[in-house]
Amino acid sequence: MTWVYAFQDAQDLGRELLGGKGYALAEMVRLGFPVPPGFTLTTGACRAYLERGAFPEGLWDEVREQVTQLEEATGKRFGGSEGLPLLVSVRSGAPVSMPGMMDTILNLGLTLEGVRALAEETGNPRFAWDSYRRLVQMYGEVVLGLAPEGFKRLLERAKVLAGAERDVDLTATDLQGLVDDYLQYIKDQGQNFPNDPWLQLEGAVRAVFDSWNNPRARTYRRLYGIPDDLGTAVNVQAMVFGNLGDDSGTGVGFTRNPATGERGLYGEYLKNAQGEDVVAGIRTPQPLERLRESDPELYREVADVAERLEAHFREMQDFEFTVERGRLYLLQTRTGKRTPAAAVRIAVEMAEEGVISREEALLRVDANALPGLLRARIDPDRASEPVAEGLPASPGAAVGHAVLDAETAESWAGRGLPVVLVRPETTPEDISGMYIARGILTARGGMTSHAAVVARGMGVPAVVGVAALSLNLEERSFRLGDRNFKEGDLISLDGATGKVFAGEVALSEGESGAYLQRLLEWAEPHRKLGARANADTPADARRARELGAEGIGLVRTEHMFFDPERMPWVRALILAETEREEREALDRLFAFQRADFMGLLEAMDGLAVTVRLLDPPLHEFLPPLVELERKEAAGELAPGEVKVLAQVRRLHEANPMLGFRGVRLLLVRPEILRMQTAALLSATRALQEQGKDPLPELMIPLVSTPEEVEQTLAVVREVFAEFDLSLPVGTMIETPRAALLAREIAPLVDFFSFGTNDLTQLTYGISRDDAGHFLPHYLDARTFAHDPTERLDEAAVGRLLEIAVREGRAANPNLKLGLCGEHGGEAHSVRLAHGLGLDYVSASPFRVLTARLAAAQAALHS
Ligand code: ADP
Ligand code: MG
Ligand code: MG
Repeated sequence: MTWVYAFQDAQDLGRELLGGKGYALAEMVRLGFPVPPGFTLTTGACRAYLERGAFPEGLWDEVREQVTQLEEATGKRFGGSEGLPLLVSVRSGAPVSMPGMMDTILNLGLTLEGVRALAEETGNPRFAWDSYRRLVQMYGEVVLGLAPEGFKRLLERAKVLAGAERDVDLTATDLQGLVDDYLQYIKDQGQNFPNDPWLQLEGAVRAVFDSWNNPRARTYRRLYGIPDDLGTAVNVQAMVFGNLGDDSGTGVGFTRNPATGERGLYGEYLKNAQGEDVVAGIRTPQPLERLRESDPELYREVADVAERLEAHFREMQDFEFTVERGRLYLLQTRTGKRTPAAAVRIAVEMAEEGVISREEALLRVDANALPGLLRARIDPDRASEPVAEGLPASPGAAVGHAVLDAETAESWAGRGLPVVLVRPETTPEDISGMYIARGILTARGGMTSHAAVVARGMGVPAVVGVAALSLNLEERSFRLGDRNFKEGDLISLDGATGKVFAGEVALSEGESGAYLQRLLEWAEPHRKLGARANADTPADARRARELGAEGIGLVRTEHMFFDPERMPWVRALILAETEREEREALDRLFAFQRADFMGLLEAMDGLAVTVRLLDPPLHEFLPPLVELERKEAAGELAPGEVKVLAQVRRLHEANPMLGFRGVRLLLVRPEILRMQTAALLSATRALQEQGKDPLPELMIPLVSTPEEVEQTLAVVREVFAEFDLSLPVGTMIETPRAALLAREIAPLVDFFSFGTNDLTQLTYGISRDDAGHFLPHYLDARTFAHDPTERLDEAAVGRLLEIAVREGRAANPNLKLGLCGEHGGEAHSVRLAHGLGLDYVSASPFRVLTARLAAAQAALHS
């Protein structure tokens, strides 16, 4: 069994055995790049070590042999005290990049005798002592597990004693004294720094192997589904020094710009420095571009490396290099991280350059990142410092006048003012205000709080859980950090970063851009799933159509009622005591809805528009009970409000999510059902008469029995008959019972649309509005691998879908199947929908892009 391979002998052994770093080093040696020589202890050696709790037999013989080879290659001696000593770096490298693993140790092999030799040979005692100082510190922290603060304190003290401002101002003598302090500190902690290079090496290798099982690494693996039995490799590599003078340095290069995706060398370089100095941000490196003038030869060399690396790996590379006395060495290369916009451009351009296929380009882009490309953004170059920060709950940027309650939001927005709703937290009573606000800001709540969930659903930018926000509702003022604001002051927020700004901040419009267009064009022929949008207004519908939506999968008709102009009529309908009052309210609402439906159907001419009948509990349209009761207690109730209070009390529900809503409401108050059906038919007829091609569908929410469907259909058919016009009718499948009774329900309808938001809540027994108390903990503790409201649960909700699909189709071969929960715009869930053989998914307009790409990716995967 071979446990150890020199870089030049490790070719073709693969990433699994060599780890990512070792694999890339071997590849670079194969390509003939200047790489400092070294060797890799394989993941197999790590696995063997972890299994038996001891190094496998023969491992150290092989290591000794490799070190001898290194000595020959470099002409230096490991642990030598004459001439230049051979120093190495010990670098961990798992098959998949994994934070939490042991850090790199540099300058290993240096001893007190070696320091003197190094000082003599380089004529630079400061460099020699600094190298030793760094080794002792890294070894102490990483291998001996001592607190970094201990070393930091001693370093600070040394600087004070020497009157030095920066680390680099410490002299050789200062550093020598610091080393003594370090060694004493290590002793005081009951540990020992070995002055023997072989003991150093053994300690370091052991620490890397052991770090595979440290808690952070374990958590990371669980989080990303990485198997626990891969193990990590260890790379031992001869040191090169970028800190030997102005003809030395260290840098990082990207083969394309990681922010924009633009082709060409990009990166940073720091003269007279070691790699870790760049990472630690001790000094500010200069753009690589400057080398073009200051050192054209080096620039050309690096640019040439970049080009060849990318051609070889067929992917944008991020590489590390060091220049020692004018000689370039490569230390690492890997697939470069990039922004979503850069990812799209790079994938498209690489396909157009013929480096990868179009299919590969499609698979290289994270579909979930696409909507972010379209949202308006705070322009970071023109923004002031944020005054506070919270959780980035709903992406997009907003600027508006701060308003402290939903009512004010409605009235100011009604006057045409942009508003940002600022609340301690939100409740269903705030919905109409949230709907009309440009942005939402709350002091409390997590990523799944009411404010966060509703804002995302509505596509309103939101920042929640801003600890530095406190409101004074009496005085209509609030504080953000250490600044005071009054209601009406302008504020800005960025729902993608969680930042909150005072005043008006410049926004830049998001855009889909030519590269994204091309990528999505390439996706079209592969995709089997249709992509519709959830939209409630003609503007949203047009937007969705531009983004490629092939119809509307969900119109939430209640959103049409939240408009401040209409709210009084909804209230009048709910509170009506005489038939005349009810009739008048219905007539008004009919006119509003008919106009809305016409707008939507016209915008989607020739494409299906699925209209869901009224779904939410009625109390959402009424003034909050607590507010009315407060007034009552204070004797401030207006005469008209006495009746309202009684009604609100009567309709108040302990658990509205499970209460008087959906089909239940429609069957108890069929006049609403009739009004909505008639409005849709009337709009359809009017458009048909104009020669248009409206294609509406009617959808019944929250059913759990076939009888509910039959009874609803009976009413709907009467209205169809009155108009002498009929439409496809379907049901939401959003209760577990409906999914399990698909066989009975399917023959009654033309389509099912899986309402996976409610179906998820009802399957788990979770209310999204209340999940904030435990969901963050569950996700932290990995009780839930993912937030099921974001990513569709395959195990149980997926199983219900599977049953409903299979039994529904068996009972009604013409049944059309869609999915209209928020999951319809999430890539993993789209893949699940593809696997289930659904006809389409439907998501909020921006997320249609995700649906389109993810659907193509799912088809390419299967
Ligand atoms: P990471 O995985 O955190 O990037 P690395 O193993 O790449 O860790 O090492 C950390 C830093 O040390 C990098 O800047 C790297 O370039 C530098 N480094 C690693 N090995 C050597 C070496 N043999 N000679 C010089 N610098 C090195
Ligand atoms: Mg590195
Ligand atoms: Mg629902």
